[in-house]
Amino acid sequence: PDQLLFYCRPGFEADVATEVAERVERLGWQGRAEFIEQGGFACFVVDDERPANELHRQLKFEQLVFARQSLVALAPMGLNRDDRMSPILAQVMTSGWSFESIWHETPDTNEGKALAGLIKALTRPLESALRKRGALRRKAGGRRLHLFWMDGDFVQLGMSFPGNRSELPGGIRRLRFPSAAPSRSTLKLEEAWHEFIPRDEWSVRLAEGMQAADLGAAPGGWTWQLVARGMHVFAIDNGPMKGDLMATGMVEHLREDGFVWEPPYRLDWLVCDIVDKPARVTAMVQRWLIRRWCREAVFNLKLPMKRRWEEVDRCLVLLGEALENAGIRTELRCRHLYHDREEVTVHVRLLD
Ligand code: SAM
Repeated sequence: PDQLLFYCRPGFEADVATEVAERVERLGWQGRAEFIEQGGFACFVVDDERPANELHRQLKFEQLVFARQSLVALAPMGLNRDDRMSPILAQVMTSGWSFESIWHETPDTNEGKALAGLIKALTRPLESALRKRGALRRKAGGRRLHLFWMDGDFVQLGMSFPGNRSELPGGIRRLRFPSAAPSRSTLKLEEAWHEFIPRDEWSVRLAEGMQAADLGAAPGGWTWQLVARGMHVFAIDNGPMKGDLMATGMVEHLREDGFVWEPPYRLDWLVCDIVDKPARVTAMVQRWLIRRWCREAVFNLKLPMKRRWEEVDRCLVLLGEALENAGIRTELRCRHLYHDREEVTVHVRLLD
């Protein structure tokens, strides 16, 4: 294999490609990124003496912003409708790959969804053929074979490794919309928690009785999530909050400017979904963290501009440097979540 394959939200191919190319260069590797507009994926073709697997290991999935999934991949293959199986079997056997499971996936597009029938028909026969040949087997280090169907006669085979991949099909976290929540965007905060906070730590890090601030809170989707965890919330917004939420008695709604408001005492959580310049939002959160007004923060950076990766990278580098200069140890992550559109979600946690 000499390629890396990344899934992404359609429309964000250039962002993944630029991000990966830049990170790869920083790691001292050669190659080129390729993508098709609206394709829902980007490829990186490695041009180096060393194997692509080694680059894949160095490129930590956790640290990637725009990639939903990260795979080591073989060259994409055109298939003949009469016999799709044989070339796939041949490619797997030549590669020498072995794995414990097989996932069929498609780009996150309407064309992709239309391939469900084809995939269903192929799943069983392919599994049994690969099991017979010893490629699909019980003990294979948790490795997974991915068949990424770009369309009915075009597929790319990839491999994923435990600890350096998304465990979700298509890299997509589907969540049920809580019908009582005031807005769809409630799912962005919930997804952020799933993404950044290990499930077994929710009871301590998202605990009843904690104090939170929600900047740009109206109509209250994020506040609703905080209240659902039993937190008290300062909801800062000039706009109106939905009534049911206010009736819980857990929310103090203040019609103030989120960029200048200061909490009356130290809080546990800061969340912010204000639509403004990424640099301005980042600088505001930075002030909160350096003054230790909160212990954890989740905030969105809105990205209406063309060069989204450059913008995100600039903000994260500045924030990281500022925190380091202030002597503050943090855990800092940023992801383009499934429920994010033209925006990314940042999580910061103070470590001491
Ligand atoms: N997270 C919210 C939810 O789930 O319902 C949606 C937030 S909406 C995308 C952005 C909000 O930010 C708007 O309600 C707007 O009034 C508010 N906003 C914009 N500038 C603000 C500022 N300087 N201070 C406080 N709120 C602001």
